[in-house]
Amino acid sequence: MAKNYFQPQTEDEIIQVIKEHSKIRVVGTGHSWNKICLTEDALVNFDNYNKVLHLDKQALKITVQAGIKLWQLNEYLDKEGLALKNLGSISEQSIAGAVSTGTHGTGINYQVLGSQIEEFSLIKADGEKITINREQDNELYQMALVNLGCLGIISEITLNIVPAFNLHDETYTANFEDVINNLNELVNKTDHFKLWWFPHTGEVVVYKYTRTQAPVNDSRFRQWFMDELISVNAYRLLLKIGSINRNWRKNINRRLVQNFIKPLDRVEKSFKVFNVPEPPLHRETEWAFDISDAQSLLREYKSMINTSGHRINFLQEIRFTKADDFALSPCYKRNTLWLGVYNADNFGWDELLADFEIIAKRYNGKPHWGKEFKSVNKEFFNRAYPMLSNFNLLRKEFDPGNKFANDFILKIFEA
Ligand SMILES: Cc1cc2nc3c(=O)[nH]c(=O)nc-3n(C[C@H](O)[C@H](O)[C@H](O)COP(=O)(O)OP(=O)(O)OC[C@H]3O[C@@H](n4cnc5c(N)ncnc54)[C@H](O)[C@@H]3O)c2cc1C
Repeated sequence: MAKNYFQPQTEDEIIQVIKEHSKIRVVGTGHSWNKICLTEDALVNFDNYNKVLHLDKQALKITVQAGIKLWQLNEYLDKEGLALKNLGSISEQSIAGAVSTGTHGTGINYQVLGSQIEEFSLIKADGEKITINREQDNELYQMALVNLGCLGIISEITLNIVPAFNLHDETYTANFEDVINNLNELVNKTDHFKLWWFPHTGEVVVYKYTRTQAPVNDSRFRQWFMDELISVNAYRLLLKIGSINRNWRKNINRRLVQNFIKPLDRVEKSFKVFNVPEPPLHRETEWAFDISDAQSLLREYKSMINTSGHRINFLQEIRFTKADDFALSPCYKRNTLWLGVYNADNFGWDELLADFEIIAKRYNGKPHWGKEFKSVNKEFFNRAYPMLSNFNLLRKEFDPGNKFANDFILKIFEA
C-alpha cells in the first residue's frame, strides 16, 4: 500500500516528488491487471496532468501532458476533425500508461499504439528532463518507448494524428474452422480484423473494420439497445445465471453466439467502432505469438479448452499487430497474433491460466505487460527479449538507485 499519493499539476511538482522520494511508481488509470503499479512509498497519479498543450493541424501533430486519457484525446481530436490512427478496445487508459505497457489494437498493418508517438519527454531519477525524438534519437526511442514505467516519469508526449475517419464495421458469426482455414487472407485483406471465440462452441464472431470516408449510418437507438442495454445488462445477467451452475456455461455461450450477437453492417466514427461496450469485471491474460503459428495455436487452444474440464464464461479474443523495433514490445520483430484468454470470475482461473501458459510458452509467446502472467521468470524474459539486457543497462543509467523499480519490475530485470 502506498504511503504517499500525489496528483501533480506541473512539471516542477513532478520533479519535486522525484527528488524527495526514494521509491516511486506512476499510475495512469490503474487498468493493468497485474501488480505493475504497486509501491509502498510514493504513488503518482496524473489525472490532473492531462492538458492538450499544442495542436498543429497542418503537420498533424498534437502535444499533450502524459496523463490525458485516450477518451479525452478522442473527443478533443474529433471536434477538430482529427483522430488517433488506431486504438484498442477501450479508451479509459492514460496515454502514458497505454504506451508504457505496449497496449495495442488490431490490424496487421498497424503497430502497438505507442508507434503513434513522435516525441516524448522523460524525467529521470535525478530530476533531469530529457526529450526523446523518433528521428533524432532513434536508438533511444526504440529502447525506451515500451518502458513499464521503470525508466523515469513521462511528462509530455507528441503524437502523429490523422484526419478523422470512419470505419465500416462488418460483424458476423462464422464457423471456427472455416475462419481459421482462411485466416491469412482475412487478416491481410482487412484493415482491422479480430475474432471473438466463445469457448465450448464451434463458432467465432468475426469483426472486419474497413477505413472509409463514407458517412456514418449507425442508429442511436441500435447503439443504446444493443451496445448499452443488451451487451452490458443482459450479458451480466447471463454471467450470473452461468455462475449458479457452471455446466450451463457451454449452453449459455452457444446461445450468446447464435441468438444474441446479431450480424452488423454499419459505418461509424473510428473511435466508436474500435472501442467495445463496457465489459463486466473479469480476469485477463493475453500473449503475443508469431503470426505464422496462428492456425495451429488457435486449433490447439480450442481443443484444449473443449476437451478439458474448464468452464469459461467469457469471450477469448484474437487480434493482430504489425512487427516493430521497440526493445520491450511483445511484437518485437515479428508480425503478431494476440490471444487473449479471459474469464468473468475467479472460478477455475488459476487452472486455466496454468494450462494456457503451458501452450503459450511452447509457442514462444510473450505476455502482455499490462495483464496477468504467472509461470515466467527472469530467464524466460531474457530468452524472449533479445534487447532486454540493453534495456536494463539503460534502466541502470537512468535510475541507478532503483527508484522506479518495484517487486514486479525486479522479477523481470536484474536489480
Ligand atoms: C477493460 C480493459 C480493456 C483493455 N483493453 C486493452 C486493449 O484493447 N489492448 C491492450 O493492449 N490492452 C488493453 N488493456 C490493458 C491496458 O491498456 C494496459 O494495462 C494499460 O497500461 C493501462 O493504462 P493505464 O493508464 O491504466 O496504465 P496503468 O495500468 O495505470 O499503468 C501501466 C504502466 O504505465 C506506467 N505509467 C503510467 N503513466 C506513466 C508516466 N506518466 N510515466 C511513466 N510510466 C507511466 C505505470 O507505472 C505502469 O508501469 C485493457 C485493460 C482493461 C482493464
